[in-house]
Amino acid sequence: MPGHYSGSFAPFIVGDPTEHKQMSTTWHILGAGSLGTLWATRLARAGVPVRLILRDEARLASYQAGEGLTLVEQGVSHTYPVIGETPDSPGPIHRLLVACKAYDAQSAVAQLQHRLVPDAELILLQNGLGSQDAVAAQLPQARCIFASSTEGAFRDGDWRVVFAGHGYTWLGDGAHPTPPLLLEDLQVAGIPHEWSTDILTRLWRKLALNCAINPLTVLYQCRNGGLQAHQCEVATLCAELAELLECCGQPAAAQHLHSEVDRVIQATAANYSSMYQDVANARRTEISYLLGYACLAAARHQLVLPHLQQVQARLVELLRARGLPSD
Ligand code: NAP
Repeated sequence: MPGHYSGSFAPFIVGDPTEHKQMSTTWHILGAGSLGTLWATRLARAGVPVRLILRDEARLASYQAGEGLTLVEQGVSHTYPVIGETPDSPGPIHRLLVACKAYDAQSAVAQLQHRLVPDAELILLQNGLGSQDAVAAQLPQARCIFASSTEGAFRDGDWRVVFAGHGYTWLGDGAHPTPPLLLEDLQVAGIPHEWSTDILTRLWRKLALNCAINPLTVLYQCRNGGLQAHQCEVATLCAELAELLECCGQPAAAQHLHSEVDRVIQATAANYSSMYQDVANARRTEISYLLGYACLAAARHQLVLPHLQQVQARLVELLRARGLPSD
């Protein structure tokens, strides 16, 4: 199996053009969903050593019954025999990509805590805010790198992912501005990225855009473009979100928020938002790390944002009525 090795370093194979020409640290990928598979397959394709951590023995057995992980790009699929394991597998973890949903990140990382070396590096791919700080607080000695991605991918079967939207991933570490060596692997793997010294601003900005668009698409049951019929409500939400961002020490994230929200609504008019799709498919949403986080931050600052709070209450009511978790 390509990439098969033991220990935390890949062997240097002379003459193998697919092998990364240096002693690479192994990447452990936690979560074989859309983004986890998108990253694992591209790293494996470039000869970077990768191992996939699955929930439990049952998921591992299902994975091992197949050929590996499949990446579908422009209708062409390639399968990569990435090695699978479970949290209980032996061996230290030096570099971990956390590719779970925000509500699973903390407990999924806790299951691996005993395997993480003290100076382990983690990349946290979760949308919204809140889960990253929770994971970082759990691992005070590790380096937690926050990420914000505009890449798009979805699963069209078990262990298969379709690369649906090219984009960019910004990575940053508010505590240590020095870029980590792992960026070299992203370069080799052709994962478009940039080291960001203001990753929190990016995450707040994305959260604000999400709060202004996604909940309304669920409440009005429409595509993003359908919000053009609710311009006043969008404008009011943007004004409240900008006030919140200023109050939370993120004035840069507040700049021209409304005009960017309008631009996104127009540019993605035909799309259904991720929250709309989660609700339509009866999946749990990441509401607590998006609108819920914004409302909690407002309460912490004793800010009264009536429209934001009302949208949150309406959304919670809708989720409950559909029998979905409201957190
Ligand atoms: P996803 O397809 O639902 O994948 C999450 C994966 O995590 C699932 O495969 C799940 O396993 C796994 N998982 C959960 N708990 C686990 C545990 N304890 N141990 C091992 N695996 C565990 O989610 P996604 O779409 O990749 O999204 C991941 C994050 O990236 C989210 O915060 C999302 O908002 C963000 N994001 C996604 C995209 C995108 O295009 N998909 C774009 C930008 C940002 P099972 O398969 O066993 O359920």
